[in-house]
Amino acid sequence: MERKPEWLHVKLATGDSNKKVRQILDRYQLNTVCDEALCPNRGKCFDSLTATFMILGKQCTRNCRFCNVSKGLTEPVDSEEPGHIAFAVKELGLEYVVITSVTRDDLCDYGSFQFKEVIKNIRALNAKTKIEVLIPDFCGDLEALDRVVKENPDVISHNVETVPSLYNEVRPMADYSQSLTVLKNVKSLNNHIFTKSGLMVGLGETKEEMLTVLEDLRYADCDFLTIGQYLAPSRNHISVKEYVHPDTFNWYKEKAYQLGFKYVASAPLVRSSFMAHEAMKSKEIQNG
Ligand code: SF4
Repeated sequence: MERKPEWLHVKLATGDSNKKVRQILDRYQLNTVCDEALCPNRGKCFDSLTATFMILGKQCTRNCRFCNVSKGLTEPVDSEEPGHIAFAVKELGLEYVVITSVTRDDLCDYGSFQFKEVIKNIRALNAKTKIEVLIPDFCGDLEALDRVVKENPDVISHNVETVPSLYNEVRPMADYSQSLTVLKNVKSLNNHIFTKSGLMVGLGETKEEMLTVLEDLRYADCDFLTIGQYLAPSRNHISVKEYVHPDTFNWYKEKAYQLGFKYVASAPLVRSSFMAHEAMKSKEIQNG
């Protein structure tokens, strides 16, 4: 694969805030998807005192070929974790927090109880903090999804990640239509919760396939969208097929707004939780 183009070069940040975030994560033994997924923006986010907490351990039960999260023997659910996250949110003074998780197909509730407890604990200690949960598909289990919806997070996010023709190669244990149904079900369970989905490009998808996915997401009444460049965490992961030009990201952004998305972040270094608070600050949302 050719050298990374200049628009993908990031400056690593190591300021005091960065250290503060790390100290708090260590003290409460918390995981972040930022570190696990080797997110290129983590320096910038930690420097602005924000991070995406990853719950339910470090081991995932699935094997997405783009993902750097470890796969293997899963850890017991940590009953201290919800409280620890609530304290970390308080110490960091977060106005907006994103909670994600590994996928836990091994749990009878698919991890939905832990999401519920995390939201409740954050709310109890940080009443003003806006909460986004980036959930797995809970194997399509409606009861599990409803358990999270009932805690009324501000945003429920579930990533479709790529176009359906690439699922076998990129996301073999997931199902495209099941992921769309998760987003649709959130709206049927509570129409006031904003929904969001994220896509990576540069895996061999065509523009036509991307447009079809954007239409499918709008059909599922999805409100927010993120599109970013796939970067291979290592040589063992699926390879990058293309470094997509920033002009193409702008084109997707334009098309997405034409289709009716309320907020779109589309650029090479965009990740589903990067600057996630911006969506709630957008005019469209403020004006209701
Ligand atoms: S389900 Fe999520 S955490 Fe697990 S491998 Fe796939 S992307 Fe990574």
